[in-house]
Amino acid sequence: MTMVEICRPVTAAWAYLLERCSLHFPCLSDPDRRTSVILKTSLVLFHLVIVGLLFVLDEHLQRKTQKEPWYTAIYLVLFVATLVQYFYTSGSTPGYVVDAMRVYNDTRHTFLNTSRSSEQSASSIMGSSISSVGGRASGKSNSGAFTTMWVKQVMALYPQGSSTRTWTCTYCNIVLPPRAKHCHDCNKCVLQFDHHCVWLGTCIGQGNHCRFWWYIFEETVLSIWTIILYISFLEAKTEREWWKNGIAIVFLAILFLCLIFLLLLLIFHGYLILTNQTTYELIRRRRILYLREIPERVHPFSKGVCRNLYDVCCSRDSLYAMEPVPTRDDMEETAQPYTCIDIVSCRCF
Ligand SMILES: [Zn+2]
Ligand SMILES: [Zn+2]
Repeated sequence: MTMVEICRPVTAAWAYLLERCSLHFPCLSDPDRRTSVILKTSLVLFHLVIVGLLFVLDEHLQRKTQKEPWYTAIYLVLFVATLVQYFYTSGSTPGYVVDAMRVYNDTRHTFLNTSRSSEQSASSIMGSSISSVGGRASGKSNSGAFTTMWVKQVMALYPQGSSTRTWTCTYCNIVLPPRAKHCHDCNKCVLQFDHHCVWLGTCIGQGNHCRFWWYIFEETVLSIWTIILYISFLEAKTEREWWKNGIAIVFLAILFLCLIFLLLLLIFHGYLILTNQTTYELIRRRRILYLREIPERVHPFSKGVCRNLYDVCCSRDSLYAMEPVPTRDDMEETAQPYTCIDIVSCRCF
């Protein structure tokens, strides 16, 4: 019997299972969404197995839970909070350019309607017979006018003389503001594109970079605490079967690897947020036209640590805010060497 013959029933069973699942859950018929669901389920199962087995194997922890329930309660709250933060980040919008366009159009529409109605009331007060242009006709022309206004507004953010064609996404056919990029996994353009996270099944961008950092932070704390619990389990001088120690050692090794990865990610994204950069800008600096000539030590979009932190984590209007490319004078100022006054005033860019 060849390998192909052995694998055939397995492949057929898998195909049948997928077909049945697709019938009950139509979203699973899309391969990308299916991969995303499988990855998310695997991640949740991984958490449940690592933490669940600890409570099953460790008798000392079971006794401690009975004596000091608050200790286990805090640990379990952190565990649940991490999973909630995972789904919260996964379901959040990274800030798509099409949504920014919609918000911009709605704002302009409201603004135009408000000015029109105020004009109308002004005319009626003055007893004038002048009537303003009707809604339906102007509605059609508004669409084209809004697109032109969007292009004007976006191109004003680039240095003078920039061509619209250079900054038009060939996939979405829209003019992109600075720092935006098309994501081939989401098939949409994202404001302040950082990267596409396969584990979260979404892009990390302007709208969810802060949530992503907090998720990594919670995972890091949970990993450290779980490692401590596994080490305490192995150090406890109690008679137990060899395989229990074996499982604990394997899980501990996996947790150590995860912790190293999480710590590096946490520090790296902390640095990016403090300097107002994205992973894409850092890695592909030479590819981005307006960053190509700028020295490595200059972070052109940085406004200082405090302001950068505020913009990413607290600013309510930062979801669809668009930043202009700084002028050469501004960049030369940020590239100035440090003086004593800068250190006192906490200049960190
Ligand atoms: Zn695009
Ligand atoms: Zn994406």
